[in-house]
Amino acid sequence: MEIILAEKMGFCFGVKRTVNETQKLVDQNLTNAITFGPIIHNNDVISYFNQKGITYVNNLEELKQKLIEKKIDTVVVRTHGIRKDTLEEIKKLNLKVINGTCPYVTKVHKIVEKMSKEGYPILIIGKADHPEIIGVTGYIENNVPYFIVKDEEDLNQIDFSKIKKIVVVSQTTEKIEKVQKIVSKLISFIPEVRYFKTICYATDENQEAVHKLAPEVDVMIVIGGKNSSNTKKLFEIAKKYCQRSYHIENEKELDINWFNYNDKVGISAGASTPDWVISNVINKIKEFSNILQNSIIKT
Ligand code: SF4
Repeated sequence: MEIILAEKMGFCFGVKRTVNETQKLVDQNLTNAITFGPIIHNNDVISYFNQKGITYVNNLEELKQKLIEKKIDTVVVRTHGIRKDTLEEIKKLNLKVINGTCPYVTKVHKIVEKMSKEGYPILIIGKADHPEIIGVTGYIENNVPYFIVKDEEDLNQIDFSKIKKIVVVSQTTEKIEKVQKIVSKLISFIPEVRYFKTICYATDENQEAVHKLAPEVDVMIVIGGKNSSNTKKLFEIAKKYCQRSYHIENEKELDINWFNYNDKVGISAGASTPDWVISNVINKIKEFSNILQNSIIKT
């Protein structure tokens, strides 16, 4: 079996930054800390910090409850960012706040805040229930209309008859092809469409690398959280070009029956997948390779 790694994969700049900040707390024994939301979408990383004493809360009520139950002095804000009003409420609680929001997400916050202040309705391309999108909507001026669409078809559900101008942004992990289609459609019936490219470079690069690798291999393994948007997008691309593509969280989900002894196996990983999880997967596939090779020799 030949294992080929995607040219770009794994931890992105934003994830590395937040994980490192949280790790620093562990290293300095400052574990009276909590994270606001899972800091990244990767269960292995979340369990690791849990074991070190840094758990997470999902909302303000849970945070306030934790403050009653346990001594907490530090809050780390998740990489995906949170609503502006929520951040302001946290700051009032007299805690040290480490803002782990990825700068690429902060850029989206700034765009929608500024443009909605200028009176532009906002159209966001992404998943309405994704924490990043929930956070972004919290930066849009009150009384300014905004819409969230997950695909081109969703545009048909919106009444644009009174909209003469609009600003378009997307979730940082969106696929560029989808965004282009939606913007082209909007241009055909709204006089002023201002599109800001908010897809981050890590997403672009990881997707491009899968695009290149998937058609060249027999099996594609995409590693990352099942709730990680960017990993799911990588898997969609892989599946398009390589029928035998699998999305796994870690090596425990690998199945020897997916492989033949002479397969070329491509590997990619989402932006929130740590190197040690990738290494474990590679080692497990190497083990499978030896087993399959030996069984061929014996027969
Ligand atoms: S995928 Fe992009 S936007 Fe998301 S955390 Fe990584 S660098 Fe930031």
